[in-house]
Amino acid sequence: MKKYSKEIILGVFLIAIIGLSVIQYRYARIGLYVARIQFQQHLAEGFQDIQLDLMRENELTFLIYLVMDQDTNYLKMPLDSASTAASVFLHDFLQDRLLGVGVQAKFGYTLGLGKEGPVILEHFPFGKDTQALSHTIFLTGYLESRLGDRVRIKFYFNDLDNYLLHKLNWIVIPSILFLLLIILLTIWVFRRTYYQNRIITTTNDFINNLTHELKTPVFSIGIATKLLEHDPDMGGHPVLEHIKQQNDRLKVLIEKVMNLAEMEHRGYVMQLVTTEVRPLLDDLAREYQLKAKVEGFSFRADFPERVTLNTDWPNFRNALVNLIENAIKYGGTGVITLSVKATPRSYLFCVEDQGPGIPENRQEDIFKKFYRITEGQDYQQKGYGLGLHYVKQVVQFHKGRIKVESTPGKGTAFILVLPKG
Ligand code: ADP
Repeated sequence: MKKYSKEIILGVFLIAIIGLSVIQYRYARIGLYVARIQFQQHLAEGFQDIQLDLMRENELTFLIYLVMDQDTNYLKMPLDSASTAASVFLHDFLQDRLLGVGVQAKFGYTLGLGKEGPVILEHFPFGKDTQALSHTIFLTGYLESRLGDRVRIKFYFNDLDNYLLHKLNWIVIPSILFLLLIILLTIWVFRRTYYQNRIITTTNDFINNLTHELKTPVFSIGIATKLLEHDPDMGGHPVLEHIKQQNDRLKVLIEKVMNLAEMEHRGYVMQLVTTEVRPLLDDLAREYQLKAKVEGFSFRADFPERVTLNTDWPNFRNALVNLIENAIKYGGTGVITLSVKATPRSYLFCVEDQGPGIPENRQEDIFKKFYRITEGQDYQQKGYGLGLHYVKQVVQFHKGRIKVESTPGKGTAFILVLPKG
């Protein structure tokens, strides 16, 4: 069940989002439908006003009559110009009346005699679109009596869907925004949960690991103490030495955990002191050359003449030791090199081995607390996943950075870049 729970939650989330989107879409369609009905109602009111105003004789209806009758005696201008003027005036008048009832949609119109007579006036300020939604009204009264037939005005409403959608923007835009907000929030919660789960898993691994490691020395000390209890004469060198060894193991373990805890709670303050570390590096190298002889690996060291660092040497030394111990632990019997290179602004401390390397997709994770690579033959070594995390913390405290360069099968190099002191 646990294995599938992530997929199930994701599935339910997707269904909910799709469902919500469909409902929103349907609401928008209903909104559009209502807006269209409202538009038709406003239009009907506007048309009534227009018909009433154009029933009577006034300057506009008189001009329309003259143009339609093509009566050039009264017109003090060419018929073409009079037609243009009449069509623009009429458009302005119609627009004014429609705006009066809240219709702001763009429109054009044609005007002709009777139901199907030829078009005499027309005005399309936004381009002629005869496919657009159209409405026809008839003018009676003054014009009908002068011209002997009703006058027809056909309105064409351009881009009506866009206009209505625009009116609905206050519903549509917040809906989309809130939907996006829900999606983003859910993704964030998913990522957080995933991250927390990973921390829980790695912490559990660490606790298991640690408990396992604690068991052996505690068990050994217990047996040794029992032996001494039964036969105090056994309290000679070998049993005491054994207790001491196991006790040291316990101390190292406890120190590792304490160090990290202190560092994380910021209670642990490192003190950076300008130090010439070349002799200290030589000491460290000698120590490992000796160990190499005993344990059967090769250790090489290469340092410049002077290495002046602003450092908390005990911690920095520990960091280098951690890297070298890892190289021994994971690097097998190949050559291990500790080298320092000077660049104009920094020192590059490099610990290199010829071990199995680290897969590229793990190279970022290995610095996380408790993280260990547990699969693969070469990773049967014991550990807590604390070493590299500690090294990174120390390096950051020195205002430096750590890089790893590794080719699986060929080896690994950890490079610490530290500013010159
Ligand atoms: P630990 O060694 O206690 O597991 P570290 O933080 O020191 O923890 O290392 C984390 C992981 O990085 C190790 O589990 C190991 O898989 C990998 N690793 C570290 N150093 C090397 C190295 N020199 N070569 C190959 N793998 C390494």
